[in-house]
Amino acid sequence: MQKQNKKSAAALVCAAIMLAGCAGPENKITSSSFIAMDTYISATLYGDKGKEAAGKIKEEILRLERLFSVTDEKSDLWRINHTAGGNARVSPDTAEIIGKTLEICEKSGGALDITLYPVVAEWGFTGNEYKIPGEDILKSLLENTDYRRVKVAGDTVSVPEGFQIDLGASAKGYAGDKVIGIMKAEGVSSAIVNLGGNVQTLGAKPDGSDWNIGIQDPFGEGYIGTLRVKDKAVVTSGGYERYFEENGKRYWHIIDPSDGYPADNGIVSATVIGDSGMFCDAMSTALFVMGTDRSQEYWRKHRDFEMILVGDDGTVTVSEGIYESFSPSEGVKVDLIK
Ligand code: AMP
Ligand code: MG
Repeated sequence: MQKQNKKSAAALVCAAIMLAGCAGPENKITSSSFIAMDTYISATLYGDKGKEAAGKIKEEILRLERLFSVTDEKSDLWRINHTAGGNARVSPDTAEIIGKTLEICEKSGGALDITLYPVVAEWGFTGNEYKIPGEDILKSLLENTDYRRVKVAGDTVSVPEGFQIDLGASAKGYAGDKVIGIMKAEGVSSAIVNLGGNVQTLGAKPDGSDWNIGIQDPFGEGYIGTLRVKDKAVVTSGGYERYFEENGKRYWHIIDPSDGYPADNGIVSATVIGDSGMFCDAMSTALFVMGTDRSQEYWRKHRDFEMILVGDDGTVTVSEGIYESFSPSEGVKVDLIK
């Protein structure tokens, strides 16, 4: 029997848009929520510039969704995937996100690989028609994957014949960065946006204090703890976000390029904290695939982000730079990595 993730079902029910404002310039709060990029998006903007900015950020997210969707026949991604073997012309945003995501594919030693799309689709994670593919099918699909064969040159992108890409690992983070940019340009100085588990904060709370971000317990409904941040992206990749179950086993949407199966290298949730949402988004997916040991090694070598890893044995590992800002929930033990 297959079971769909409760969260995405709940998100569909919440397909509402709400714009609200209340009087008093500095206390004014604008809230906006809607469904886009296959997820539930919400934003809270403080101050009197919020209302106008909220309208613009929704437009921007919908614009990016039209470019990056793998299923919309008018999208840039569709054009790339259906011009395989040739050059596809794309918008500057598409060229930029692909170029930047490829950098993380490279840095992660291929743990992140945007050419895995045919494998992701075979598992049914695109249309929610889940199935466990045969081993030989996965093997033959993996022959047509390798991020190093994706080329970006100016406003053209090319992938070899038989290849297909998707930006599921980094698109929400890219959109979050754009949203932060729009809010800044509109004069908003305090806001928090949540794009289906990607939290991005602009400035501090209106009273100058830090935002408190709950880090979801991948094993249950609550939080493993809360993190205090200002002006940061906090992005989690979790096996609980999209999955199905068959014969008591859970299969999630993050795929290990080494065998085409859901990544099962000791991590059930990877949160990355940094300045860029896109970087954190791509990196959290990469860490999930790399697993516990490789992720710690990677962090020690690069130290250009902070992280919270939850292992399949329930261990919680927090990197040095955020150790003091993380308050674990009762009963949660934290290992420090430095
Ligand atoms: P995220 O939720 O940000 O961790 O991204 C997961 C999404 O990225 C999946 O739904 C797929 O579309 C795609 N994906 C899955 N595995 C990989 C991988 N190893 N490298 C790149 N993209 C992936
Ligand atoms: Mg990601």
